[in-house]
Amino acid sequence: MSRFAFILLAAVILEAAALAWQQTFFAGAVVFLFALVTGLGVALPQVRLFGNFICAGDRSKKRVALTFDDGPDPRSTPPLLELLRDRKIPATFFCIGRRVDENPGLAARIVREGHLVENHSYAHSNFTNFYPRARLRTELIRAQQAVEKAGGRAPKYFRPPVGLSNPNTFRAARDLNLEVIGWSIRSLDTVIAEPEKILARIRRGLAPGAIILLHDGNIPAEKLVATVKSLLDTLRGLGYEVVRLDELLK
Ligand SMILES: [Zn+2]
Repeated sequence: MSRFAFILLAAVILEAAALAWQQTFFAGAVVFLFALVTGLGVALPQVRLFGNFICAGDRSKKRVALTFDDGPDPRSTPPLLELLRDRKIPATFFCIGRRVDENPGLAARIVREGHLVENHSYAHSNFTNFYPRARLRTELIRAQQAVEKAGGRAPKYFRPPVGLSNPNTFRAARDLNLEVIGWSIRSLDTVIAEPEKILARIRRGLAPGAIILLHDGNIPAEKLVATVKSLLDTLRGLGYEVVRLDELLK
């Protein structure tokens, strides 16, 4: 039973009792709290309300995983790949299926250079979280096919666009044997302008097992490279090893 199923059951019982005893204030409070908790669960992967939203790896080892969302992008992916190759750093790319179809050579290069290419939906619509299970399933299948067509193995991990989830997210992912991945550190790199401020934010959340969310799409290449360079220096200075997500979750 997911946390959501448990909370839904508790809310229904409390609501029925409140209405039976004509406690309208209490009945209203139950509805309000249920809506609040559900809203938090939709927006925050760490609440893990609807299923096993994986947001960190083994906390006992000083290792972290870098994850890059929204690529591949012909402007930012090549310089990022060059930096990662120079530093011998493996990473995980949550790619948008449509962008993989548009840039198959780039997706193939990500795989060839030893990184993981995983599923971040096909179209990355802002309405993905409202899709019924069948449509979401189709969306995930199309992204799986795009990655395979570009030469990658079928993704094992799915990160929902914007990290929003509901019970269907986990049902559709389960249909395709995908694990649902969140993050423990959201860098806000597409929102914050200066790389130093992005880095300061990442440092505040840094801990063994961290999954760091960055972007390789919708971000200027120079800003991405500057941020990742400083981040890699910082991680090395603090004695952290950077591993791929599959390694972190072993
Ligand atoms: Zn995204």
